[in-house]
Amino acid sequence: MGSKSPETEHPVKALGYAARDTSGVLSPINFSRRETGDEDVRFKVLYCGVCHSDLHSVRNEWHNAKYPMIPGHEIVGVVTEVGSKVKKVKVGDKVGVGCMVGCCHSCDQCGADQEQYCPKMVQTYNDSSMVTYGGYSDHMVANEHFIVTWPKDYPLDGGAPLLCAGITVYSPIRYYGLDKPGMHVGVVGLGGLGHVAVKFLKALGVKVTVISTSPEKKEEAINTFGADSFLVSRDQAQMQSGVGSMDGIIDTVSADHPLVPLIALLKPNGKLVLVGGPTKPYELPAFPLLFGRKMVGGSLIGGIKETQEMIEFAAKHNITAAIELIPIEYINTAMERLAKTDVRYRFVIDIGTYKVVSKIGRREEISFENKRNKKINF
Ligand code: NAP
Ligand code: ZN
Repeated sequence: MGSKSPETEHPVKALGYAARDTSGVLSPINFSRRETGDEDVRFKVLYCGVCHSDLHSVRNEWHNAKYPMIPGHEIVGVVTEVGSKVKKVKVGDKVGVGCMVGCCHSCDQCGADQEQYCPKMVQTYNDSSMVTYGGYSDHMVANEHFIVTWPKDYPLDGGAPLLCAGITVYSPIRYYGLDKPGMHVGVVGLGGLGHVAVKFLKALGVKVTVISTSPEKKEEAINTFGADSFLVSRDQAQMQSGVGSMDGIIDTVSADHPLVPLIALLKPNGKLVLVGGPTKPYELPAFPLLFGRKMVGGSLIGGIKETQEMIEFAAKHNITAAIELIPIEYINTAMERLAKTDVRYRFVIDIGTYKVVSKIGRREEISFENKRNKKINF
């Protein structure tokens, strides 16, 4: 290994789970993180959500993977060290980091608190311009600008997924004006993003219809998340019943699917907002848009200011993700299940139950110790 190996690049030792190739299989890795700079916040990771973007990324479905890749951008934990200039938080505070850890701070987008659209935005992991490692790891260090402060008494585990899933739906609901009481908005795909979208829309007084390929999710969509109705997208009669009824649609689907049946659900002037990232281009004929002056738009996560606003809104309205808490060694099974839409509704890795075992020989360097008295050697 050269001097720039993940393990020796920086002075502070770290442990994580990394994918090494397009199989996407994750396994333990020794790596390193930078020292705490003047404006940096270092924190012990307690929980990290498993986003479908992690799955797309580790399997190189977006053709931009850099290996080894340590995914994870729904990261929460407790501050262990702060730099001398840090004002936002102190040691012991609960904090989160989402999808971004850097930006230029001087372009129009940064000036408008839309760092996610800064040309120099740095992603929390698998960044194109520099090496970054995400939250499937024992600790994080990030510039305080990208630290989200945690609302008092807001759950860390159920709240973690909001750092990506939450802001990704909250931001377009606000930007595209789909937040007015009495509006009717469709949510396509009842997964990690989709179920949180239903909760936000209901808290805003919006009428919500879930559009799903999974009829078995209807009961939970309506009785647990508060949706008003449910359409099975592969049932033409059900889809017909919704034609021309919606002011907007948030499409969170992770796989290829037709847009025209969704555009048909919109009223004139309706907006179809894409937030999912399927790998193939959509088919988008003009006439379904022309007849009705309809719009198709997109949206990427949200800025840090809006993320802070979103998490406070979520805490105020008791909105958390419905989660399945998993130990880190379950991650490959979790990824397989996520690929099959077999999760209700977000996996969250319980990283804080592990502590790094003291170094005794090389093998021990890649060990976590489960505080529930189960020692795991890799
Ligand atoms: P997820 O939990 O897997 O949910 C996706 C949902 O899409 C599934 O639960 C399923 O819902 C539906 N679906 C799956 N396969 C389908 C198919 N073949 N046809 C129709 N519907 C299908 O994923 P997620 O974490 O919510 O992420 C969703 C997408 O958003 C991913 O592509 C992810 O990369 C992307 N994303 C984008 C941003 C952004 O900033 N824009 C941020 C985060 C994630 P039903 O069972 O209800 O049909
Ligand atoms: Zn994500």
